[in-house]
Amino acid sequence: MSRFAPIVVVERLRVVRARLEESSLDAVLVGSLTNICYLTGFTGSAGIAVVTRSGGVLCVDGRYGQQAREQLDRAQCDLEIHVAKTSGEMNEFVARIVSSQTKVAYDANEFTLAQFESLGGKSAQMCRVDGFIGAVREVKDTSEIERIGFAARCADEALQIVPELIGRDSLITERDVRDELEYLMRKAGADGPSYDTIVASGENAALPHHRPGSRVIREGDAVVIDVGALVEGYHSDMTRTFLVGTCSDQLHQMYESVREVQQHAVEMVRPGVRCGDIDSWCRDEFARRGVADLVAHSTGHGVGLLIHESPWLRAGVEDHLKIGQVVTVEPGLYRVGVGGVRIEDLLVVTQTGHTVLTHSPKESPCLPSLPTT
Ligand code: ZN
Ligand code: ZN
Repeated sequence: MSRFAPIVVVERLRVVRARLEESSLDAVLVGSLTNICYLTGFTGSAGIAVVTRSGGVLCVDGRYGQQAREQLDRAQCDLEIHVAKTSGEMNEFVARIVSSQTKVAYDANEFTLAQFESLGGKSAQMCRVDGFIGAVREVKDTSEIERIGFAARCADEALQIVPELIGRDSLITERDVRDELEYLMRKAGADGPSYDTIVASGENAALPHHRPGSRVIREGDAVVIDVGALVEGYHSDMTRTFLVGTCSDQLHQMYESVREVQQHAVEMVRPGVRCGDIDSWCRDEFARRGVADLVAHSTGHGVGLLIHESPWLRAGVEDHLKIGQVVTVEPGLYRVGVGGVRIEDLLVVTQTGHTVLTHSPKESPCLPSLPTT
């Protein structure tokens, strides 16, 4: 049994159906397994769902009949289940449902062109509405926030080892740190890492998505550690940067800039703020400090059943933050040949502003000097 409140999909389906009605649509075709899981509780590796205003159906293949019945029952999902013998039959079954409706929404990102055509995608009923389910999924309910919050705590707990780990071993590599963090997250109760943990040291820290390698962490390095945990399908996401022993003034200045910009950006997070404004504030502030050319990515993203999902805190995004959204704030600076600094927190938007879910300290990034051998 889960240690958390059960995931119940009744309210999610109610919101989707209300949106269908508002938009004068009869049904929505759902091909993304993430969205299917969100709406039904089903976690199998294949399936298609159609949600109508008053019901709908989840089509699965023979491998998943029993699993679907159990999972939909547990999630209190009212969709019928159709077990198809072949994927061809599944597509035909869905195509027949589509043709019986007047106006069916679909998200073009959820289907291959071949699949779309075999589902009757070219018929007059089909109506492209990208992000139809994604927009509902952006706002998390308490059972989701509970899981994401626990995942964030698992990563916090694991990260505590870093000062000791780096301080005691003069031959420790990026991979060693990654392995230790992933082990400790599991030990804390996570199902695993929520993405490939990033440990980027020295000049590698200038690469925002460096893959940990055999580089030995040295005195004078900035070490960017981007780590999150996975808990019952939900992700967490956090980055801290450590400065090892005596570091250059340049790295200290980069750290201070990122630290101050990140803190201000976190404080901007509240309902009604335009997502693009948080990103442009960060870019403007880095430009004012003369380091605009060291910015390599946008400021943040939503987190939930996917590690990267809407809303996007990036330039030009007009969407406004809503209560219940879970987003990262992660500005960074990257100087080729020198290193990089990124600080990332995970926040849930609340009525009065936000609650920060990641609690690892970011005030004193300096680790002790490494022992000399
Ligand atoms: Zn991250
Ligand atoms: Zn992130």
